Amino acid sequence: MEKKVRVRFAPSPTGGLHLGGVRTALFNYLFAKQNKGSFILRIEDTDQTRFVEGAEEYIADCLDWSGLVPDESPQKGGNYGPYRQSERKASYRVFAEQLIREGHAYYAFDTPEELEIKRKEVPNFTYGQATRESMRNSLSLTSGEVEELLSRNVPHVVRIKMPENESVSFHDMIRGHVSFDTNLVDDKVLLKADGMPTYHLAVVADDKAMEISHVFRGEEWLPSAPIHILLWKYLGWADAMPQWAHFPLILKPDGNGKLSKRDGDRLGFPVYAKNWTDPRTGAETRGFKELGFLPEAFVNLLAMLGWNDGSEQELFSLSELIAKFSIDRISKAGAKFDFEKAKWFNQEWIKKSEAEVLMPLVRSVLGEQVTDVITDKYFLNVVRLVKDRCTLLSDFKLQAGYFFKAPEVFDVDAVKPKWTEIKANFFFAFADTITDERSASDLEERFKLLSAEHGLKAGEVMLPFRVMLVGGKFGPGVFDIAAMLGAQETIQRIRSAVNMFSE
Ligand code: GLU
Repeated sequence: MEKKVRVRFAPSPTGGLHLGGVRTALFNYLFAKQNKGSFILRIEDTDQTRFVEGAEEYIADCLDWSGLVPDESPQKGGNYGPYRQSERKASYRVFAEQLIREGHAYYAFDTPEELEIKRKEVPNFTYGQATRESMRNSLSLTSGEVEELLSRNVPHVVRIKMPENESVSFHDMIRGHVSFDTNLVDDKVLLKADGMPTYHLAVVADDKAMEISHVFRGEEWLPSAPIHILLWKYLGWADAMPQWAHFPLILKPDGNGKLSKRDGDRLGFPVYAKNWTDPRTGAETRGFKELGFLPEAFVNLLAMLGWNDGSEQELFSLSELIAKFSIDRISKAGAKFDFEKAKWFNQEWIKKSEAEVLMPLVRSVLGEQVTDVITDKYFLNVVRLVKDRCTLLSDFKLQAGYFFKAPEVFDVDAVKPKWTEIKANFFFAFADTITDERSASDLEERFKLLSAEHGLKAGEVMLPFRVMLVGGKFGPGVFDIAAMLGAQETIQRIRSAVNMFSE
């Protein structure tokens, strides 16, 4: 029988959530949903020195915002809990002991100082085949010595004993056949002196305990794969081993190498999903959400970093992605991140989204600019009218703000040099004729007739009219704006601006 699909996103709670992390979560999520399986969030917090307060809640919020809600998680629970590795601490030691008993791991008593000395003495020192005999461990010491050290509780770690001259190979669903020479892999620590497992032991033990069917993660974990494969085998679980895929890196826009938060700071774009405040330093880092991205756009642009469906289509909703996603269409090569392209996705998604869906988001962007007197109908019409001009949600501040409050800043320079008394008279006359509510086309007709009567070309007075209503050279059709603002507000804006331009 086919194994039930159970995949996991397993971040460490060490800080802001990088977009590469969200893409890993997304691909796992899509695969799970496509196969009617489960998407699990597991918090890998065994490295206490890197633990950051609040990071776990933040990760859960980022997934929530992105629409990638886990079926099982520390917050939600599930049948395979606990979902925090620190709470599973007691379960790992038995595996380390089993590995020692069966000759696949050993105790190592070297102190951090001794290791430091070795690192200084031996260039490119690694703890492994070439060096393990010269270190203080249960391979180099007699069993009596080991017993004695253990009975005195001398701090020690447990290390995997990498076999000599073997090749560890496996099938990666993206990369195909992958193999590693065990002579080139060091004896990684499995259990630390504080009794906590390292990532390598915990990840295998938990993937087994949680019946994970597929391990999908970033390419940076590929070098760890041989250690994990050996552990699956050594622990007697080869039959239950998950399938593997390592996703390509997300690369810097302007060169090679993995995109880092620092690249975002340097080039002026976010790398984290949501704003992150480091509790240790108070430093704030901006996220895609707060910059004004829609979650639909965010997941869409992430999906396209390394995947396509074979056609030219670029815009996909989450449900379309669930239907169309396939691991074998993920490329092996890294995907360059392009912030301009990311913004294009957002712009397209703002265009695609219904005004009703955007309304609450725009409301929170505009904040106090919107008073309680504004009706939903008016608000929706504003959103409909300007949404095609917004790339980020924050653009609504400029593009929609003047519908709620008269502008305070005017692009006077665009108008004043060509301002004349004739124009002033025209605007006063125009204001006098629109005392009742009129449609945009009605207003336009009247505006054109009247400007001709004043010996003006409509084109000469359109720009001043726009600046009067919105403050600058932007926005949708000026008569649409006037019709929406209504007669009273339009008249008021015309009169006060004419006075300002005539001063
Ligand atoms: N804890 C690892 C991380 O922080 C998980 C890697 C894996 O999925 O095996 O990404």
